[in-house]
Amino acid sequence: MAKINQSVTQNYRIRPLTFSTPLLEGESLTSWLIRAALRQGCSPLTFTHYYWPEHRIWTYDVDKGFKYINSQIHSDIAVLAVTAIDAINNQTLINFSKILSIESSSKVALLWTQPLSKRNRYSRIGYPYCYECMTNNKEAHLKLQWRFTWSVCCIEHRKFLQVDCPYCNLPYQPQLIEPEQEFINQCHSCHHKLDKTTLDTIPSEVVYKFQLLANQVLYSKQGTILGKVVDIAEWFDYLLFLINLVRQALKNPDYMFGKLLLELGIDLSELSSPKTSLRFDFLPLEERIVLIEHAYYLLQVECDDWIYYCQELDITQNSFQWSKRTIVPKAFSQVYDQLPKVPSREYKKQSSGIHPASLEAVMAAWSRLQRKIEMRESYDKHLKKE
Ligand SMILES: [Zn+2]
Ligand SMILES: [Zn+2]
Repeated sequence: MAKINQSVTQNYRIRPLTFSTPLLEGESLTSWLIRAALRQGCSPLTFTHYYWPEHRIWTYDVDKGFKYINSQIHSDIAVLAVTAIDAINNQTLINFSKILSIESSSKVALLWTQPLSKRNRYSRIGYPYCYECMTNNKEAHLKLQWRFTWSVCCIEHRKFLQVDCPYCNLPYQPQLIEPEQEFINQCHSCHHKLDKTTLDTIPSEVVYKFQLLANQVLYSKQGTILGKVVDIAEWFDYLLFLINLVRQALKNPDYMFGKLLLELGIDLSELSSPKTSLRFDFLPLEERIVLIEHAYYLLQVECDDWIYYCQELDITQNSFQWSKRTIVPKAFSQVYDQLPKVPSREYKKQSSGIHPASLEAVMAAWSRLQRKIEMRESYDKHLKKE
């Protein structure tokens, strides 16, 4: 039996696991906790309750990391998994936010992170996975990268990620797997192995190339924009800006940005705006794929072309302020600085009369409501089964 390492833990129960379960390269903490529990023959809930009884671990988004709950938990996991503490600290969503210089807290949904929409231990949105990565019981594990909203497909297998069980359609919730199921690649509800696709399409060459590029930026912590090398934070800022630009164009294809994208070679006539006006991270995979495909195209547009077509269409610096929150990324300044700035009009206080919402706003609110109802129905089904 291994000795307790007093220097790293105060918890007397923490010593390397009887059935060793190292944290794998790129594995998420959710995945490790579940695999470690099942390997010892207990449920994920029993496992976390045994080691950290004062915390209801599964009510949190575990992949964020435990910095906001109790940083001792990372040290404990390092001992249990016989893994360096740095590896635990690095393989968290919070760490990615830190690299991107994004402010994070325990309450706010992190930028670029797919929410799980938790209600106690239950998630109303499934955990993303590649069904081909799930075929081998013993090797199956979940990657932290799959939680990022810019991750839409598995590079190794060229398959889209999916979030529901292909047999019963319920959201995939590995934290609810029972000990007798043994492996993480099972549906908690119908107990099927998650080895089938839920989609009838495969990633296009464009999506695949985007995924390779984004992975490379993540790995090297830098990328190229308008011919200049920029750090990873600037690269992702620019990507989000382009995604939002595509959304602006989709809202009004016949207006300024719709025309600009058409000039730059993107035909939006066959496409439609995301059904909800939610932020990119909350959109379903199919909608994120469309936005990413076009943003990837825009990533390759050169500085001179941007300037030329913006000037042709009388696009000014002000045109890019499409919402109060818009921040024009630093990497775009080569283009932005070349455009004229119109003195902003004085803000007039609006009358307090009732203004009816636009049809577009009503439809977006309606779609958000439908999404809520669908998630509620899945949760109710889950409650009835318990
Ligand atoms: Zn895969
Ligand atoms: Zn199922």
